[in-house]
Amino acid sequence: MRLSLPTLTHFSPLLRHVVSGRWTTTHYTRNSRKNDPRWEGVNMKRASEEYDVVVVGGGPAGLSAAIKLKQLAANSQKEVKICVVEKALELGGHILSGAVIETRAMDELFPDWKSLSSPVYQKVTEESIAVLTETARFPVPVVPGLPLDNRGNYIVRLGKLVSWLGEKAEELGVEIWPGISAQEVVYNEDGSVKGIATADVGIAKDGSPKKSFERGMELHAKSTILAEGCRGHITKQVIKKFGLRDNAHHQSYGIGFKELWEVDPSKHRPGYIEHTVGWTMVNHWSL
Ligand SMILES: Cc1cc2nc3c(=O)[nH]c(=O)nc-3n(C[C@H](O)[C@H](O)[C@H](O)COP(=O)(O)OP(=O)(O)OC[C@H]3O[C@@H](n4cnc5c(N)ncnc54)[C@H](O)[C@@H]3O)c2cc1C
Repeated sequence: MRLSLPTLTHFSPLLRHVVSGRWTTTHYTRNSRKNDPRWEGVNMKRASEEYDVVVVGGGPAGLSAAIKLKQLAANSQKEVKICVVEKALELGGHILSGAVIETRAMDELFPDWKSLSSPVYQKVTEESIAVLTETARFPVPVVPGLPLDNRGNYIVRLGKLVSWLGEKAEELGVEIWPGISAQEVVYNEDGSVKGIATADVGIAKDGSPKKSFERGMELHAKSTILAEGCRGHITKQVIKKFGLRDNAHHQSYGIGFKELWEVDPSKHRPGYIEHTVGWTMVNHWSL
């Protein structure tokens, strides 16, 4: 007998669950609630709210977009109702990156940002590149103009910058909803995007409704901006529905590690960047 995946899943309930996704998630997008008796009689109607623009994701991109739109509207004496939904409990809470940033976007959004007590204050003062082996360090020159040349850039904690951008957005009248995850795209009858639905809350681990179950809300907008960062699940739904990646080059990703070091204050050189490659990532180098 040939052992194909269908044959194996026929004989193995465990494998069948893994392949169907049921074993790894009880999410309703994988396990429909339609014929699930536990959901019978539960009120599934969603309340809705109307906006001009809904932004999914309060990272640097989403907040900058919201701020810019508010500024453009103010310049032409128009009112725009904008809302940003962010799944982290507070803005910046899901931002992983430390970051060395170049500040052209800051110049554009806030020409006077240097006098606004933003968390962008540490200019890069010194930079070096080195190849490491287990016992040695080989310096490599920083080549002007290449990506690792950070002259003029700033070292920031991106989470703090995002939280500051959030304050600025709120000052301009953007509504920010932290702790709210966009769960689904909702569509108009003609198939165009109507907005998003926020996540339901009060669901048990086994996928059944708890007493505290509350249906998510629909946020409708003339424009919905998806700024979920890479591989956002709402974005993936839209890419699939509208075939947005048809004939596009495949996306590529790198896996990286982020380390936070506690540095002896006497050794701390504010503004200094050290790039290294090699050890400990390469086990058997014999340089
Ligand atoms: C370890 C690391 C180091 C980096 N170093 C640098 C650097 O030195 N310099 C540099 O310029 N860039 C750096 N980057 C890249 C930089 O962080 C990203 O380019 C930038 O954060 C992208 O911004 P974004 O707003 O598009 O997405 P993100 O920063 O990913 O923000 C997306 C936001 O959307 C929220 N969200 C996602 N899905 C939903 C949803 N469905 N509902 C509600 N909210 C949602 C997330 O919680 C998050 O807050 C680094 C990235 C990493 C991971």
